[in-house]
Amino acid sequence: MSRRIIPVADLSAAPVIAGPVQTPRGVLHDTLSRPLRDLRISVTDRCNFRCVYCMPRAVFDKDYAFLPHSALLSFEEIERLARLFVAHGVEKIRLTGGEPLLRKNLEFLIERLAQLTTPAGRPIDLTLTTNGSLLERKARSLKDAGLTRVTVSLDALDDTLFRRMNDADFAVADVLDGIAAAHAVGLAPIKVNMVVKRGTNDGEIVPMARHFKSSGAVLRFIEYMDVGTSNGWNMAEVLPSADVVTRIAEQFPLVPLEAHSAAETAQRWGYADGSGEIGVISSVTRAFCGSCTRARLSTEGKLYLCLFASSGHDLRALLRGGASDADIATAVAEIWQGRSDRYSQLRGSQPADSGEQTSRRVEMSYIGG
Ligand code: SAM
Ligand code: SF4
Ligand code: SF4
Repeated sequence: MSRRIIPVADLSAAPVIAGPVQTPRGVLHDTLSRPLRDLRISVTDRCNFRCVYCMPRAVFDKDYAFLPHSALLSFEEIERLARLFVAHGVEKIRLTGGEPLLRKNLEFLIERLAQLTTPAGRPIDLTLTTNGSLLERKARSLKDAGLTRVTVSLDALDDTLFRRMNDADFAVADVLDGIAAAHAVGLAPIKVNMVVKRGTNDGEIVPMARHFKSSGAVLRFIEYMDVGTSNGWNMAEVLPSADVVTRIAEQFPLVPLEAHSAAETAQRWGYADGSGEIGVISSVTRAFCGSCTRARLSTEGKLYLCLFASSGHDLRALLRGGASDADIATAVAEIWQGRSDRYSQLRGSQPADSGEQTSRRVEMSYIGG
């Protein structure tokens, strides 16, 4: 039986630098003048779902080599890195995975991260993306630990279709109960993410819009992306966000809304009757690399500068090799200042999905969505 291992090149480009005694801080800009503002932290590469577009069961089967516990960053290690990133300008931290709520005692990590403040003294924006299956049980403890809000993924209201898409027999009702629990404890505003696959769940666009309209939750439609190497992505299965907007507007008139910030990934649309808003994330048809301020920390402590990267920078080696805070902060600065990634912007001008980079791209479940 062959064991499948995610190809992660340990380029470990981060040198240990005999740096200044003071830990370097201050906002970092990459080669395209993009500041480092967001950090996504993957706390586990495991998941209880097998979404067809993310962890297809044929690849992520019982023989799949998930990371051993010793490879995972500890909560202390995550907190130490997060603190250094915040000193370098990060204002928003999103916990993700895999399924983050599968990580044991996640609340302890949230308690630590919730204490972080920006150099200007503001609390960081701490959030989490979950498939919702454990949210009903955990909403209260997450809120009490200091989580401010939550994003829940849900791809359909039709139960048969949803079970087919998560391929693990989880019911829509479980996720809706999780959303209700999050709402009840004040983990707000709640965002609901729906990945749209043309020919699979595009018939659910209008029912989902109808369901969440007036609910207070913001439904966001994500274009199906060519992340990783295992989901068999095909452009024919991408439904452009423009079509999503058209389909909804035919039923419920929409008006464009201003972006909250330049780095916002979603384009916002409001219901003309004032009953809420939706967002569309056009990662394929309208790339937003120009304003991409996100770095991703993998479960085992590799820093990725793009969702489509094939290698990361090994910060765990620094942490466990005795590097000082100043060493690590200097390394992070060098890494970000050398960044030039803009995969989605270049996607259209690149040759078809082939070649070494594509074959080594990391999986979304490993790097965090
Ligand atoms: N397990 C959690 C969840 O599903 O919310 C967090 C991790 S998941 C990788 C983060 C987000 O990535 C989810 O909203 C998921 O729908 C989205 N995602 C995964 N694969 C995708 C793909 N191929 N294209 C677009 N979005 C994808
Ligand atoms: Fe799991 Fe989230 Fe990927 Fe679905 S999208 S398989 S819930 S990590
Ligand atoms: Fe950012 Fe890479 Fe996505 Fe562009 S393709 S928006 S650089 S993560």
